[in-house]
Amino acid sequence: MADMKIVFLGTSAAIPTEKRGLSSIVIKRGGELLIFDIGEGMQKNFLQAKLGINKKMKVFITHLHIDHCLGLLGFFQTMSLLGRTKKIDIYGESRLREFIHENFRIINIGLSFEIAIHVIDKEGVIASEDDYQISCCRADHSVPAFSYCINELPRPGIFNIEKASKLSIPKGKLYHRLQNGEDVVIDGKLIKSNEVVGPKRRGRKIGISGDTRPSSKLRNFFDSCDILIFESTYNHDYQTKAIETFHSTSAEAALLAKESNCSKLILTHFSSRYDDPNILLDEARSIHNNVDLAEDMKTFYIPYTE
Ligand SMILES: [Zn+2]
Repeated sequence: MADMKIVFLGTSAAIPTEKRGLSSIVIKRGGELLIFDIGEGMQKNFLQAKLGINKKMKVFITHLHIDHCLGLLGFFQTMSLLGRTKKIDIYGESRLREFIHENFRIINIGLSFEIAIHVIDKEGVIASEDDYQISCCRADHSVPAFSYCINELPRPGIFNIEKASKLSIPKGKLYHRLQNGEDVVIDGKLIKSNEVVGPKRRGRKIGISGDTRPSSKLRNFFDSCDILIFESTYNHDYQTKAIETFHSTSAEAALLAKESNCSKLILTHFSSRYDDPNILLDEARSIHNNVDLAEDMKTFYIPYTE
């Protein structure tokens, strides 16, 4: 079991506004922070959200446009000045390594922690932990870009305490072993895990589009997400502009979420022309029945569905 929440730190496209900073999303899962893009200025909201500067951390850069990656220099320096010691794993396209190395070489500062740069050279699973994986898929943008998914592995089923006590299984370690799928022998009698534990329960799946046109590839990639965070730079009136600039409209985001059977859609990455992005929300809600708007510092909790 891991609590999971999404905190939006920056929700504006290309240009910040008075209310919105440049792209950055943090997903806090248990004690770990998974950060998707670090737009310039994100660190102020990061500190305000009290997410913790020395947490286990993975950073995923969707693409190397300045409004999605420039903030990492300042953010890393701040964490260093505040005494971070834990290594950071950072993932992105091949030029990410050069971007980080060259900038830190020119700025000429040492960091208090190690950075492990993982260049993504193919689609699929790029990071694995005991109970979840992160996978990536090529997005359709004007430069090399990736979309990401967090896939939790199935959780153990529900433990039937009543049945366990009827079978005289002593509480404690044996409960734990049975719940983890192990069969045990008590007083010469075999007790199978599935006698007291229900079927495995599905984990949560969260999708993050980054900047992209909708595509059939992403429709498959985001299949059955519990939450899909999709860029919505424009409303339908700017469809032509969305195509020209390799972005999506809120109608397109909603259609993709619907066709991918995503339970909930959260729109983000709004053009600075929208002082009030409710026009984007209304458009998406006419297509998908569960849509919300991201706002800077807004938090969404992600409950288990089973
Ligand atoms: Zn962007």
